Amino acid sequence: MCRYIFITGGVVSSLGKGVCAASIAALLQARGRRIRLKKLDPYLNVDPGTMSPYQHGEVFVTADGAETDLDLGYYERFTDISASRNDTITSGKIYEKLIGKERRGEYLGGTVQVIPHLTKLIKDFIRFGESEVDFMICEIGGTVGDIEALPYLEAVRQIRYERGSANIMCVHLTLLPYIATAGELKTKPTQHSVRELRSIGIQPDLIICRADREIPETLLHKIAVSCSVPENRVIAGIDQKTIYHVPLSYYKQNVDKQIIEYFGLEHNDKINLEKWHLIESGITTHERSVNIAIVGKYNQLQDAYKSLLEAFLHAGIHYKCKVNLVRIDADELDSQIYRQLDNVDGIMIPGGFGTRGIEGKMNAIEYSRKNKIPLFGICLGMQLIAIEFARNALGIRDANSTEFTSDCSNVIDLMVNWYKGEEKETRTRVSNLGGTMRLGNYESSLTSGSKIQGIYKLERVLERHRHRFEFNINYKNDFEQAGMRVGGTSADGNLVEALELEGHPWFIGVQFHPEYKSRPFSPHPLFLSFVGALIERSESMGESKVRKI
Ligand code: GLN
Repeated sequence: MCRYIFITGGVVSSLGKGVCAASIAALLQARGRRIRLKKLDPYLNVDPGTMSPYQHGEVFVTADGAETDLDLGYYERFTDISASRNDTITSGKIYEKLIGKERRGEYLGGTVQVIPHLTKLIKDFIRFGESEVDFMICEIGGTVGDIEALPYLEAVRQIRYERGSANIMCVHLTLLPYIATAGELKTKPTQHSVRELRSIGIQPDLIICRADREIPETLLHKIAVSCSVPENRVIAGIDQKTIYHVPLSYYKQNVDKQIIEYFGLEHNDKINLEKWHLIESGITTHERSVNIAIVGKYNQLQDAYKSLLEAFLHAGIHYKCKVNLVRIDADELDSQIYRQLDNVDGIMIPGGFGTRGIEGKMNAIEYSRKNKIPLFGICLGMQLIAIEFARNALGIRDANSTEFTSDCSNVIDLMVNWYKGEEKETRTRVSNLGGTMRLGNYESSLTSGSKIQGIYKLERVLERHRHRFEFNINYKNDFEQAGMRVGGTSADGNLVEALELEGHPWFIGVQFHPEYKSRPFSPHPLFLSFVGALIERSESMGESKVRKI
């Protein structure tokens, strides 16, 4: 029988509900339980695909091609279970479904209401796949008290009523703010947040209190009494060195044991935390360091390139290497480029959309190509590698992507342009409906003898995609003759999946997003190879290399 754990957040947003849910899942998984994580987002966008990274951070792409919240990235990285499009819902999506049903007359003339109709669809989503797991762990986005979150909390209340409290656990994540003038952490906001939850009919069963310092026992006791939660189920969620320290910090406070006992399950089952201990020590042991410049657009934002930063961290753990990521604003990369990139061991050009910053990114690419600084381009990064090469190595001065201008030599163009006859017609029809993005897993055949094939040691790889534009296959021969090789293509050979520069220590662009598949326990081969090359380069330069960053 499936048990449900709901995670809600109180007081403020950004408390790390995703990491909390993923850590609880990881501990239950370490006890040999089958788990599934789901995210319910109360905003009205159908998905975050069109939301600005300033608002929403990175868009995480699942293997089956859903554009989702970045919390699904945490779920995958902590549990190594691939999330699917059925693990994420937004109010936009659920209302779309509801209205579709209403238009088709499926409500038989009834008045369609939030309760019971919308809440039923939310419950259907929550319960989907329940026969396959022991625990369904559902994170409710937003903060308790938000108007948008009410239907979700009502659905949780109903499930609790239907299944009985013994099968449902509500975990509430709150904040104890530190008031400097009083020299104290405060519990009042938590008490208010729990009162709000109870007014909706939900009593939390376990409270995790986030705080930036040690929480005195007296405060945990006070929260237990005022919120009617047993004392051993009030947990101190103190800031950790990294997110990968959170599962063990929960374990030390018996969170998993409390959960198992709450559900009346056998709690003498073994727990295997070996990989978490290894990660903890790996993350904090540094025998060397490298500096990587990320030349992007959202450099002030931690969340905009989340999976990318994580993938570098994972590779760093493998080499016991501190990977310092130097974020450089592509808009500012002009004549100062030499000064800005002087102390980096390698350059990363991440994915992106729109014209802003592309010239600066191409300046960085040219600098790396000519000075043999290792460079890794992802998605838009690969497309800009192609445009820079066409312009400066092949002399095609007006080379560009039709994403940025229609008046150009279309080295990068909409992928429908490479299809012929009937296939082109179908794809164009699809594109007219707005389904132009190539999303999720697609197979790439790697060119035999290519550098990228040597890295993967595979002939075919499955990687996640998120793009509309593609390298123009008609330029393949010109590129290859000038030393830019196609390292991989789609199975039909029409879509270029990787470009690599001959005679350069490490210069690879990929059309897909390898960062989504990197895990702390199994770093992605491309990131491993890139960071490995940087370590080698930096060590061969020895003392002569000045580190200013
Ligand atoms: N804007 C480019 C495209 O749509 C690249 C997208 C990306 O980098 N994710 O093809």
